[in-house]
Amino acid sequence: MPFDLSQGLAERRAEHLYRIRPILESPQGTEVRVDGRTMLAFCSNDYLGLANHPDVRRAFQQGVEQWGVGSGASHLVIGHTRAHHQLEEALAAFTGRPRALLFSTGYMANLAAVTALLGQGDTVLEDRLNHASLLDAGLLSGARFSRYLHNDPSSLASRLEKNSGNTLIVTDGVFSMDGDLADLPALCPVARRAQAWLMVDDAHGFGVLGQRGGGILEHFDLEADDSVQVLVGTLGKAFGTSGAFVAGSEELIETLIQFARPYIYTTGQPPALACATLKSLELVQQETWRREQLQHLINRFRQGASELGLTLLDSPTPIQPVLVGSNARALMLSALLKAKGIMVGAIRPPTVPAGTARLRITFSAAHTEAQVDRLLDALAECWHKLEPHPYE
Ligand SMILES: *Cc1c(COP(=O)(O)O)cnc(C)c1O
Repeated sequence: MPFDLSQGLAERRAEHLYRIRPILESPQGTEVRVDGRTMLAFCSNDYLGLANHPDVRRAFQQGVEQWGVGSGASHLVIGHTRAHHQLEEALAAFTGRPRALLFSTGYMANLAAVTALLGQGDTVLEDRLNHASLLDAGLLSGARFSRYLHNDPSSLASRLEKNSGNTLIVTDGVFSMDGDLADLPALCPVARRAQAWLMVDDAHGFGVLGQRGGGILEHFDLEADDSVQVLVGTLGKAFGTSGAFVAGSEELIETLIQFARPYIYTTGQPPALACATLKSLELVQQETWRREQLQHLINRFRQGASELGLTLLDSPTPIQPVLVGSNARALMLSALLKAKGIMVGAIRPPTVPAGTARLRITFSAAHTEAQVDRLLDALAECWHKLEPHPYE
């Protein structure tokens, strides 16, 4: 049988799951040009408004002057520059861990950490709402793989009774499609009692949570706690650049350098990117007003949306999903908003469980109150134009 790709594509269309890529024609920002139109955007993960910040741009340009463009090789050969190394030292200091290791993407950081730590005979337990990269990493590792109920310490504990070999518990810090936080104060003691390691992917928490942007561990005052052995952050979200890091003990980082295939067999990120991230790391820590502005906008939105009767999730973060239900309704709502010049992503399965399609609204410190009000007005109008949900 030859490949028949057309059937798979047709099915995807029929299920309202077909993905298309809008074409961005301006830098990242709250007002962007997309497919020839100016749009007010609430769908990027540039939470602090740093992706096009003049100081970060300048640091990137100066990085190119000093280092050129390509890194030329993997980190183990000749692609690890002084700029990469400085950023790793700064990230270790920022997270309060002995070491940090830089990766080109968060996806690779997660594959690297899980597959270097686990193999056949070991156990990996993941929150069922974890990011796809963490689930893929668990499967790729070859360890016994099990998912526990979302944020449920007793579901986790019951699965830990059957563990064998090294056991790694893996969770998002901030859940990427729901915006809620991992219940670390409840999960940490469960992990400790089972002598399991805990890995937290705080892609959406770093820069956003905590007084100095230290993420979920700072938020829960767990920075000095030793129960999170593997801490992952990404740089393409609040940091506004690109890449990711794993922070942890000396031995953890040396293990990744020696054994993690997604670290070893890939070209280092451009050194100028590390220069840009060093600058954005400074801004993340120093400009606390960005987090305050973000929180103010989040509160304003939640207040307004609950007055409209929209179904919000229990999220204290800039990820504010509005539950819609069916894929068709989510697409329809996003299309109605688009017609009003507002861009919000419709998130559908398999990214979220079936029947929980949603608008994933995200805020940035660069948004204004007036822009949030424009979103609320548009939601009020568009919501009433939707076909009613069959269960309503
Ligand atoms: C975005 C994201 C990643 C992937 O990071 P990239 O740098 O975009 O590859 C990993 N984990 C979580 C929780 C994310 O939200």
